[in-house]
Amino acid sequence: MTSDLDSDTDPEIILGTNKTTYHLPEKGSDNLVIVCGKMFLDTLGINIQTVRTALAKKMSSHGTFVAARDLRGTHTNRPHQYPVEITNLIISHIKSFPTVESHYVRADTQKNYLPAGLSISRMNRMLNDELSQVGMKEINISRQYYAKVLQENFNLSFHKPKKDKCALCHQYKESTPEQKELLKDRRIEHLKNKKIARKLINQSVIEANSDSSIAVIHFDFQKVSTTSKCEVSNLYYMSKLVVLNLTFYDLATNLDTCYVWNETVAKKGSNEVASILMRQIEYILSSRPKVNDIRTVSDNCTGQNKNQNVFTMLIMMAVFHDVKITHRFLEVGHTQSAGDSMHSTIESYTRHREIFTQDQWAKSMRKACHSKRYVVHQIDQNWIKDFGEMAKMFNWANLHTNDVRELVIDSSNSKLNISVKYDFREKKYQKLKILKKDIEYFEIIKNYNFPQACENKIDITDLKKKHFQTMMQNLWIPEKYHDFYKKIIQ
Ligand SMILES: [Zn+2]
Repeated sequence: MTSDLDSDTDPEIILGTNKTTYHLPEKGSDNLVIVCGKMFLDTLGINIQTVRTALAKKMSSHGTFVAARDLRGTHTNRPHQYPVEITNLIISHIKSFPTVESHYVRADTQKNYLPAGLSISRMNRMLNDELSQVGMKEINISRQYYAKVLQENFNLSFHKPKKDKCALCHQYKESTPEQKELLKDRRIEHLKNKKIARKLINQSVIEANSDSSIAVIHFDFQKVSTTSKCEVSNLYYMSKLVVLNLTFYDLATNLDTCYVWNETVAKKGSNEVASILMRQIEYILSSRPKVNDIRTVSDNCTGQNKNQNVFTMLIMMAVFHDVKITHRFLEVGHTQSAGDSMHSTIESYTRHREIFTQDQWAKSMRKACHSKRYVVHQIDQNWIKDFGEMAKMFNWANLHTNDVRELVIDSSNSKLNISVKYDFREKKYQKLKILKKDIEYFEIIKNYNFPQACENKIDITDLKKKHFQTMMQNLWIPEKYHDFYKKIIQ
């Protein structure tokens, strides 16, 4: 490693008569080590222009740089006075953090999420530390200004461990009396639906407790978990491997099951949910032979739970095993479940643990609860089936998919009946006409060979690969986990 920024890397960066020296904190200590410019930029995720601009300001000792110094302390309540270079510096700093796409966290928002553990204060402190490491102690950006730049230029949220609050209830709470009047009817309806959905599920649990032919399961994704949780601050700039956990909470037996995979194995879509739910239903039917009435519960996410692929799978399972399956969707915004307490148990168990691999996540999940063991399966790619072809055999035009509250598929008397409720308060179910006359469903379903959804490892981005390599080279990922990451990068 060279002691200065190599002049052949970028001669322009050397300003005035002094050569610029770059430092980074040494692994596991507070000491700074001199590194080459390229490594400095790569590690901090700052581009060369940012440093050049900042250095130019520093070198022109009577320029705007001095103004920046004057703005510290008492002047931070007027953050708009920072020069544009500082704003750009903050923008490029924020851009250097990898974000998580909203669909991994919640489907109904356009926001992207910053990694868990970050906050505005922390990000601001990191930038100020980095500036002081390159000899620019004078720039001390206030937290208030950093927050202002983030809010004005990005649609970013900090990764929340819990689900967001209900949008409608929140809007109602914040409304003026006049606005409340306009929302009143919608909200009353909403609260009634919330209550009815809960009541129906509680009733099912009571019935299941005294009737061994009934099973009730609630399933839900746990917030995205990423590996490399270790507390090296440079790791905040590095992309993480996405690890997913689809949990099943058996409301009658209290058996909790997690299905875990990473982004190179499968996605977080309808085929994944349908395939894993299918496996869980088959597990229930094989381990509890008396069960012939399965009631499943989920939230309304159309990309994952409320779609033709999942409905197709439920129909196929009902036919294949001659059982009745009822799926209910909880009221939007109020989908909390017993599974949520599982998620928070796992979160608090793993909060201060270093986790680098999917396997470590699975082990932590198994041990997370002190009063019982969660069953954890790490899924193989060949578990994930493609339901798209089979779904084409139904007339979906006759179903308002988005409005479904309850879907009942009864094949228990060797006759297939499918009915639906679009409102929990409807007294009768509507018969659903999605079966096509010329198709022999029983014969096709009983002999169906599911095609696999994906045959090959799902590739990750080149940037992610580069970040994993950097983390291995610096031993931010300990050597014993390198084999796992080498396979991911391959
Ligand atoms: Zn609500």
